[in-house]
Order: sequence, then structure tokens, then C-alpha cells
Amino acid sequence: MDLVSFSWETRPLTILRAQPRLGHPDAPAAGFGLLIGGGPAAAESGATFSARDPFLEQDWGQVALASPRDVDAAVRAANRAFADGRWSGMLAGERARILLRLADLIERDAALLTSQQVFENGKLVSEMLPGTTALAGDCRFFAGLAETHGGMTVPPTRHGFTTFTLKEPIGVVGAITPWNTPLGLLGWKLFPALAAGNTIVIKPSEITPTSTLMLAQLCLEAGVPPGVVNVVTGGSETGAALVEHPDVAKIAFTGSTATGQAIASRAALRSARVTLELGGKSPQVVFADADLDRAVNGVMAGIFAATGQSCMAGSRVLVEDQVFDRFCDMLAERGSSMIAGDPLDPQTQLGPLASKAQLEKVLSYFAIAAAEGLECVTGSHRLERTGYFVAPTVYRDVPPDSRIAREEIFGPVVALFRFRNEEEAVVLANDTAFGLAAGIWTQDVGRAHRLLHRIRAGTIWVNNYRIIGHTLPFGGYSQSGTGREMGAHALDAYTETKSVWVDTGNDLEFRTGQQEI
Ligand code: NAD
Repeated sequence: MDLVSFSWETRPLTILRAQPRLGHPDAPAAGFGLLIGGGPAAAESGATFSARDPFLEQDWGQVALASPRDVDAAVRAANRAFADGRWSGMLAGERARILLRLADLIERDAALLTSQQVFENGKLVSEMLPGTTALAGDCRFFAGLAETHGGMTVPPTRHGFTTFTLKEPIGVVGAITPWNTPLGLLGWKLFPALAAGNTIVIKPSEITPTSTLMLAQLCLEAGVPPGVVNVVTGGSETGAALVEHPDVAKIAFTGSTATGQAIASRAALRSARVTLELGGKSPQVVFADADLDRAVNGVMAGIFAATGQSCMAGSRVLVEDQVFDRFCDMLAERGSSMIAGDPLDPQTQLGPLASKAQLEKVLSYFAIAAAEGLECVTGSHRLERTGYFVAPTVYRDVPPDSRIAREEIFGPVVALFRFRNEEEAVVLANDTAFGLAAGIWTQDVGRAHRLLHRIRAGTIWVNNYRIIGHTLPFGGYSQSGTGREMGAHALDAYTETKSVWVDTGNDLEFRTGQQEI
């Protein structure tokens, strides 16, 4: 297999669909290796898996399938890079300068990084491009924090001491990411991990491995020393090997709740640090006094954008009784007239689902809804065209205990519920095992404030939805996760805190029995 290491010469292979492209009969099939110790490597077994375009339903490349031995090689490389201080030993300002260069490179290659992700998961270029640009901003944010994230001097509790804390990198971070926003969600882990001086082994989703390799290559170009950023590609076995590896000090995971819980329990056995960003079944609460046109837009953005494949999808929409029927008609009309098509076409509004497995999952929920006797307003079928497309789907008056109401579908499928008063809205909104996000639509500012305190979710949007930015933390309550990513405190999740007592020599008597533990 000829390995693509994303050097300048190989870059034309990854250019936009309009040009001869990966998978095109005229283009050479590409092979993608692992990135270990700063260079591309084949899997030791020689095994590969296919990269597939969900819009064309075509394979366009072969990707190395990392075994536990490959994972071990990557972790050893990361461990060596951590131990010799080539990164952690740099001044924080030097690391910041390299991260700022990386941000510039991300901007330089934004179109390439974007199209690569679109080939992988079919997400619309109109959404992916701003996301890639935002990635550069995220990188700069953490570059800025590198020099300011320090410990603090604290008043000593005994005479004769100086006491302070130090913030130190944890060691080797294992980052495991999903396919829906491959680079955005990687950046939330990679940038703070690097800013704090850690090294990293990344296990991207098997559906979106190549864009991650591309970003890792940019890290090298920016001046991140070899071995600091490593990538192992593969599926659950590759990820499990990373979780089990004794030299991985922290696992940063984004993905489904079931996988996250399994990972957390394995990591707990060896006291590895863990942060989890998991699934959701987020409510949007629409009151009768809301600007309904804006609310429909927000609900569309919440559940039909990204073809519903978003952790923060607003998949449960609670509408006040007086406007329920009108809102339902507005949403059905807008949803059913969305333009489905090529995700690289800026006019397209609805892209394919990211994989055949995801298509089958969503279709299985259509069957569940039919079996549960749910009232379908629009959708509930596959689109008759090439690509893993399904119709935007609306179910109304969904019983709160139905599976459509309770389970994360990760597709353009929305359940509408009716409520009669504020109290009922709060009870319905909180009637979920998740707690990632919520939207509130009302023109009554007092009501908005009452609800934003009472709804249990990590992010609340009032009269908007699905907006994020690096200055605010993101994460979930209950089964939506553990810890927060982004925001000024994100570096805490990538550092250990060391407390230091310096005896200043003023009090030399032998101390015992005084609050020691
Ligand atoms: P997934 O849990 O199937 O896979 C996520 C990652 O974990 C992949 O890289 C996968 O290969 C790996 N993996 C699978 N089994 C593993 C194991 N046993 N050990 C180690 N690694 C393993 O999730 P997905 O289908 O890729 O992504 C969709 C899910 O991600 C949805 O549930 C969505 O809500 C969630 N998500 C959450 C957020 C958030 O910020 N909260 C953001 C995006 C996606």
C-alpha cells in the first residue's frame, strides 16, 4: 500500500469533488497509514478497511487497521515524547507559538480539511466550512491559555511555610472521537491537551479517519515535535486497546452513551482520568408567545441540520397547546421542502446520513414508530436516490414513554409533544435520561429565566439553538457525559494539580500530631 502522508505533493489527491477525486474511476485509490512517532506507518498486520463516501455510496480509499500492537507502538512513541520533555519541557509560550502556527495552517487548508470531512461523513459543506474555520479560533483560544494556566500561591495554614500549587501535564492522552464532527470534536481535546504539555494518541471514528490524519500532519508542519501527536485508525477494538493501555493517563471520549459508559468502567480499573461527551435527547420548548417563524428556524437547525446527526440535536419539541397544530404544520411544510443533494453543493439543505449502519439505524426507528402507532406528519422513509438519505421526519403527540421519545436516534427525526402550562413543560423537558442541551422559545423574559434555571442540561439556548463557541464550556448532565470541554477551565481536565509546601526555616521544631493525615 502506498501511504498517503499528506505531504504537499500528495495533497492534490484530496481536492474537491469537481476535480478528479479519490474514488473517481480516473483517480488512484489512496492508502492511508497510521501516524506514529512523526511518520506514516502501515498496520503491522497489513490489514486495512475502506473509507466510503455516503453520498456516492462508493469506497474511495483504504485505511490501515491498527491492532493492539500498533496501538502499543503509538502509545510508546507518545510516552517517549512525553518523558524526554521535547514538548512538556518547552516554555508554555513556545508551545503557544506553535499552536498559533497550527491555527494559521488550519485556515490555509480549511477548504481541504472541509472537503475531506464531507467525503467521509456527507455533512454539508455549508456547515462544515464555518466549523473548520472555527477550529482555527479554538486552537488560538487554547494557545492563549497555555501561558496563563498556572497554579496559584495560597495563604499557608501554618507559620513558616510558603504554599502554592503547580499545574502539570498528565502524560499521554488517548482521544477517541466520533464521526459527526470529526475535527471540531477532536480540536476540543487536541488543543487543550497540547497547550498543557501532554502528548496524545488519537483514535478517530472508523468512518472519518483521514481528516484526522490530515490535521495531525498539520501539527507536524506547525512544529509540534514528532511523537507528540500520533493517530491510530480502526474501530472499537483499536479504541479498546487504547483505553486498556497502562501508559495512557487520560481518556478523552466523545461518542455514544453506551460506549462512553463501557470506556469509563474500563478506565476506572486503572484509575485513568476520563472525560466523556455523550449523547442527548434534547428538548426545545416553544411557548405560544414565541416568534413562531424564528422558533421553526431554530427547531429546523436543531434537528434537520447535519441530518440530525448532532449530539445536541433538539429531537424532542414541546409546543404549547394553543399553537401546537400551527407549529406542527409549519415544521412539516419546511421539513418536507428541504433540498436534498450533494453535500458539496452550497445550495443543498439535507445531506445523507454518514454511513449504511446509521441509515439502517434510522430506518429501524421508522419501523419502531410504525409499530408503536405514532402519528407521522411527514417523512418516515428513505429517499429514492443514491446516497444514504432519509426524509426529514415529524411525529406528533408522541407518548412520553415511546422509544421515539426516549432514545437518541441521531437522524432527522423529531417528536412533538403538547403542553398546557409552564410546569408541564418543565416536567416534560426533564423527562429524559440525558441532559446535554435545551432550547426555550418565548418573548417573556421572566419565563425564560425561570425555565433556564429549572431545565437540567449543560447548555441552554434562549430564542436560538445549536450555537457554540470556545469561550463557553460544553458538556452534559447525567447520561450526557462527565466533565466539560472548551471554556477557560478546559485545561484543568488536561493537567494534574500539585500542592507544594516549602518550609522557609522559621520553625524548625519537630512537628507531629498537628493535622497530618
Ligand atoms: P460510538 O460510541 O459508536 O463511537 C465513538 C468512538 O468510539 C469511535 O471512534 C469508535 O470507534 C470508538 N469505540 C467504539 N467502541 C469502543 C470501545 N469499546 N472502546 C473504545 N472505543 C470504542 O459513537 P459514534 O456513532 O461515532 O458517534 C455518535 C454518538 O456520539 C452519538 O451518541 C452522539 O450523541 C455522540 N456525540 C456526542 C457529542 C457531545 O459533545 N456530547 C458530540 C458528538 C457526538
